[in-house]
Amino acid sequence: HADTAMYEAKAAGKNTARFFQHEMESTVKSKLALENELRKAISENQFELLYQPQVCVNTGKMIGAEALVRWIHPENGMISPVLFIPSAEQSGLIHSLGEIVFRTACKELPNFKDIPRISVNISAKQFHAPDFVKKIECILNECDASPENLELELTESAMLADIEDTAVKMKKFRDMGFTFALDDFGTGYSSLTYLKKLPFDVLKIDRSFITDIIESPEHAGIATAVIALGKALNLSIVGEGVETADHLQFLKNEGANSAQGYYISRPISATDLIAWHNQRVAC
Ligand code: C2E
Ligand code: MG
Ligand code: MG
Ligand code: MG
Repeated sequence: HADTAMYEAKAAGKNTARFFQHEMESTVKSKLALENELRKAISENQFELLYQPQVCVNTGKMIGAEALVRWIHPENGMISPVLFIPSAEQSGLIHSLGEIVFRTACKELPNFKDIPRISVNISAKQFHAPDFVKKIECILNECDASPENLELELTESAMLADIEDTAVKMKKFRDMGFTFALDDFGTGYSSLTYLKKLPFDVLKIDRSFITDIIESPEHAGIATAVIALGKALNLSIVGEGVETADHLQFLKNEGANSAQGYYISRPISATDLIAWHNQRVAC
């Protein structure tokens, strides 16, 4: 009896192992397939930028827009960055993808001349590449663009990856005229010491803190504290993921500066962004 049990366990173990191996193989295969598709997409530039407006919570005036990349796949249509940025980061393709994103934003910049700032997301890996500053300078030259209206969005993981490199590079970019936003604030592990040391202009409160503020007093308490913290550090506060009038009102009450979210606008095409901006100015 014991023998049978042992045999069964072994067989099950073998099957489990085989199952996992199969799973792993197919994961590795699909990972590689995605990487290869991405590589092709980069060489054919199958990417587009959408822009999501940010408005002042008090006046409703547009203060800027965030560029958000989309992969326009020839067969599968529009693909979310959530599905391919991680693979781009792991494979190293983020460097060339990041260049495409930044170049596209620079090329479209002249159309946005009345929009105070356009922010571009930068991955940690991309930011810490030794030639990153030089590459950005090259693209600015190539597009005859000026960094005055450009903001770079970094996440906490980006600054924590190498605090010294972050400080040195941020200074270089600031000297050129860029401003900086700390994205998804509250989801990482940044200490206040780091926050004080690095020259950010804007703090973006992560959407996860805004989502539940109305239902959960705890979340509201955290959001309030994070906003107060940012204000104490003299940063301009943007609330992300504003989906309702209540969310907007909350940010206003707590003294945040601006808001971004579906309640204000979804991410839209460059053409629609210009129309959106003109309509706001008109009212
Ligand atoms: P993120 O930088 O925090 O961008 C905000 C994300 O929240 C965007 O998702 C936006 O569409 C979404 N969002 C905005 N308002 C709302 C709202 O009211 N409700 C909800 N549920 N979502 C809202 P998206 O465009 O899918 O981008 C996801 C993430 O992918 C970005 O988060 C950013 O981390 C990354 N990403 C996007 N574009 C780029 C890029 O060009 N380069 C890099 N490195 N990362 C990018
Ligand atoms: Mg962002
Ligand atoms: Mg964010
Ligand atoms: Mg995010």
